[in-house]
Amino acid sequence: MDFSSNPDREGIRSAVRKLCADFGDAYWREVDRKSEYPDKFVRALTKAGWLGALIPTEYGGSGLNVADAAVILEEINRSGGNGASAHAQMYTMGTLLKHGSEEQKRKYLPALAKGHTRLQAFGVTEPEAGSETTRLRTTAVKKGGRYVINGKKVFISRAEQSDLLLLLARTTPYEELEDKTQGLSVFIVHLKRALADGRMTIRPIRTMLNHHTTEIFIQDLEIPARDLIGQEGQGFRHIIDSWNVERILIASEAIGDGRWFVERASRYATDRVVFGRPIGANQGVQFPIAQAHARIEAAALVRDKAAWLFDNDKPCGPEANMAKLLASQASWDAANAAVDTHGGYGFAAEYDVERKFRETRLLLIAPVSNNLVLAYLGQNVLGMPRSY
Ligand SMILES: Cc1cc2nc3c(=O)[nH]c(=O)nc-3n(C[C@H](O)[C@H](O)[C@H](O)COP(=O)(O)OP(=O)(O)OC[C@H]3O[C@@H](n4cnc5c(N)ncnc54)[C@H](O)[C@@H]3O)c2cc1C
Repeated sequence: MDFSSNPDREGIRSAVRKLCADFGDAYWREVDRKSEYPDKFVRALTKAGWLGALIPTEYGGSGLNVADAAVILEEINRSGGNGASAHAQMYTMGTLLKHGSEEQKRKYLPALAKGHTRLQAFGVTEPEAGSETTRLRTTAVKKGGRYVINGKKVFISRAEQSDLLLLLARTTPYEELEDKTQGLSVFIVHLKRALADGRMTIRPIRTMLNHHTTEIFIQDLEIPARDLIGQEGQGFRHIIDSWNVERILIASEAIGDGRWFVERASRYATDRVVFGRPIGANQGVQFPIAQAHARIEAAALVRDKAAWLFDNDKPCGPEANMAKLLASQASWDAANAAVDTHGGYGFAAEYDVERKFRETRLLLIAPVSNNLVLAYLGQNVLGMPRSY
């Protein structure tokens, strides 16, 4: 095993860190306070080529691999920012690159790499289906050279800030399927066109964090059959290729958050003097921070392994899921240690701990809840009886 650092990757880390330094605490606090999309930051990230990280160079992207993309998102969150504002453009690539036709790649990827088009929305979740993706009800019915789409989606983030949506919809009724993982298909939907034609309504959902998530209502939306990605009926399998990347990248955001909490908490514990000594000299304050640090380091190793497996075309489902589980838990521990360390100031917006606390809490639930990750490990990896 070789744990030496990779100079190219460290170069990416320091370049992203430099870019993030222009978007400090005050910037993120302000967009959070106003519930604004961090557009300026996302533009800077796109201009520097980081959002096109996973797009191959032949299509105008940076041609980096998932381990590099992981470092990019980790550094954004470590800086105090939130990579969630832009991450979908990276993790939707798993589906588009692997299953998109050459024509689709030529049509979309160069414009995404340049930042002329945004593919920032991933439409899976529905109110009635919840975590049971194979139950989703949005239908896409083929009529000649077109599909007609009807249904509703919930918690679809950045639909208002994106040009394109990667949509999962049902092309075969559930009852007609022997294998329930079939019968779903993936489409590229032009959001602006669907809105202009009055075939789609987007309603923002207010949440505890600045996330720009929405409900989407689709009525008789016609899209050309050429916007089907991959094979009809295989959409669930195609999306899984994005899911492993998504889990590795979400783990990276959690690791970035966790490192931010540990750094802030350690600094505050060293500077804050109560009862005549730094509070960090008290083991009740110091040990939870040290414990969180150890958990983050362990999660980062599993994340690195998952990314390595993916980048080397090896199965990585268990590792990607474990990385997401361990990193989100480690960051949540770190978040609580940071709030405890800051005492009352942990709740004051100007210290940013409460904002990051709200942001990192999401990662235990979305994009997949940790219960479902544990069920996958228990059932698919360890072979125990199924709950669903
Ligand atoms: C801010 C935010 C942004 C989001 N962005 C997107 C997005 O861009 N695109 C998208 O498609 N989705 C998005 N989501 C949706 C997210 O992926 C889902 O909320 C999540 O997968 C859980 O689904 P659910 O909310 O329907 O919960 P449910 O499926 O209703 O589950 C509720 C609870 O029950 C538990 N549970 C359910 N079944 C079992 C079981 N068999 N065993 C054990 N526990 C179980 C779950 O773990 C969960 O804790 C977002 C959500 C949020 C909050």
